[in-house]
Amino acid sequence: MARIPKDELERLKREVAVERLAEARGVKLERHGADLLGLCPFHDDHEPSLVITPSKNLWHCLGACQAGGSVIDWVRPSSPAPRGSMQGVSTGSPANRAIARDL
Ligand SMILES: [Zn+2]
Repeated sequence: MARIPKDELERLKREVAVERLAEARGVKLERHGADLLGLCPFHDDHEPSLVITPSKNLWHCLGACQAGGSVIDWVRPSSPAPRGSMQGVSTGSPANRAIARDL
């Protein structure tokens, strides 16, 4: 997977509103004071657990995910900590898979 350059990430954080990303996912947002509430698209949500703070352009799921962050985290909320690049490593054999895991 291609890495996104850091300045590109910073640009996305400035220019993309979390609110827009939520709407693009079909999340209906309701204003609640300074925040917006909606159903979390990352888990099977039945009561609005998703809180978006437009002034900070941050989001947080108070439900099952307990995830949150910036627009970048929205795009990949469940990605684990970086494990390094797997480029050039065949994942064919168990040994290679183990190597790829440890990279
Ligand atoms: Zn959630």
